[in-house]
Amino acid sequence: MPKYDAKQWACLGGAALFAGICALPIGPKPLPDVINSPSTTENQPAKVQVAAVSPQPVIKNHTVKDGDTLSGIAEQYGIDLETLEAANPGISELIHPGDELVILPQKGAIHQVSTGDTLWDIAHTYGVQIESIKTANAKDSDQVAAGEKLFIPGARWARVDTAVARGSASRFIWPTKGEISSPFGWRWGRLHEGVDIANDIGTYVMSARAGQVIWAGWRGGYGYAVMIDHGGGYVSLYGHLSDFYVERGQFVRAGQRIASMGNTGNSTGPHLHFEIQKDGQPVDPMGYLP
Ligand SMILES: [Zn+2]
Repeated sequence: MPKYDAKQWACLGGAALFAGICALPIGPKPLPDVINSPSTTENQPAKVQVAAVSPQPVIKNHTVKDGDTLSGIAEQYGIDLETLEAANPGISELIHPGDELVILPQKGAIHQVSTGDTLWDIAHTYGVQIESIKTANAKDSDQVAAGEKLFIPGARWARVDTAVARGSASRFIWPTKGEISSPFGWRWGRLHEGVDIANDIGTYVMSARAGQVIWAGWRGGYGYAVMIDHGGGYVSLYGHLSDFYVERGQFVRAGQRIASMGNTGNSTGPHLHFEIQKDGQPVDPMGYLP
């Protein structure tokens, strides 16, 4: 169970019993559309209907007045500057009276769901718990829809435009560039449990999908290796590395550089051994790559 501040939990959960100790306004108010940015002040923001029974952390709008500064506005609402900037991509100190700013109820970010994003990917991209996203957005299922906007409480990466693995059906991206020197399958009487991609020592190796590092270090015949848990039973493994730049427990984004190609362990030349496991069994990565 993640550790929540009890008051914050009560706020986000919207439990009426705890409303008395809750500093945040809660209640079945419509969630303002967060699309409007300072450049579209002439358009009235559309309202998103929220079921009357769903408590929501209240996202407010602030109309910039003469003399307002970003830090002053942040202070006024009791949030930090980073959170204000995260909710209003592209703003700078050059704000003008009449500009509309989005004010998040607490530290966090707004994430617009892309095609193919799962709640798991989003949670791991921002380094937060799935349950806290569900609670903050009054969701009772794990389903998210493309275009939906989610408030990510306590997002570790504040930028709103943080990319989550983009929507190919495959859900994995190529972890490096090079030539396939050995495919998945039977080789010399034993199963080759991954695909080998050959290139020069030092070639970038990226996470093939958002996830959490569960291994980073020496791993027998794999040499220096990194393993990443992507949820849903999927784990990826990157072997024979010359160096790696992540540690166990760390969350990584798809495409984030995690290591350099090498020739460590049971390897006869510089290459990446890339493996995808589903429920502990190696599967052919070619079936999952774009
Ligand atoms: Zn291999």
